[in-house]
Amino acid sequence: MSEQGVMVVISGFSGAGKGTLMKELLKRYPNYALSISCTTREPRSGEVNGREYYFITEEEFVRMIRDDELVEHACYCGCYYGTPRAYVEQKMAEGKDVLLEIEIQGALQIKEKFPETVLIFVMPPSAEELKKRLCGRGTESEAVINARLHRAVEEAQDMDRYDYLLINDNVEQCASLLHEVIQSQHFKAASQKGRIEKIRRELKSFT
Ligand code: 5GP
Repeated sequence: MSEQGVMVVISGFSGAGKGTLMKELLKRYPNYALSISCTTREPRSGEVNGREYYFITEEEFVRMIRDDELVEHACYCGCYYGTPRAYVEQKMAEGKDVLLEIEIQGALQIKEKFPETVLIFVMPPSAEELKKRLCGRGTESEAVINARLHRAVEEAQDMDRYDYLLINDNVEQCASLLHEVIQSQHFKAASQKGRIEKIRRELKSFT
């Protein structure tokens, strides 16, 4: 198994149930750390600064980009979102698997910078179900729901760039599957550079 934690990107259409899935994973297994993003969007009712997101101004967001404090960032439906670098690096060094619940532009930036990252796309069982979940949430206006459905159409164009697609029909089952997929990454040779170098050194010392 790799000594360092792996970076895991979870994307999916708004309303695919990623948040519930993340909660289930964190509740069940101790080896995960959830990255908290920065965003310039307004908090929804019930959201707490520092728990769901760090809600920051556009000026602060721009400053963080300039000072290279974000591993990736993107604009989604008119607001900015980004992943703070320090937390991700620290948790991975501690051996935790870090979960990034981010959209597709950020996911592709991460894959380019860190090719060993596993990209997972979570889907609802059907488009009909997605619409139902988005409307049922009751936290967004009709205009926002429409923007998110349009965004889903765009995101569907790039779904095949992900490593895995999981259908979130049943949260418990999907969380188990997600855990298995993530844990298998630890066995990839690319995630075990330290171990490979060590065995190479040891073998060489015998010659
Ligand atoms: P929401 O406004 O519904 O919380 O999030 C909108 C979208 O932004 C979701 O697809 C969510 O996964 C994505 N998102 C959240 N945080 C980040 C981030 O740090 N970077 C990127 N690229 N997307 C994010």
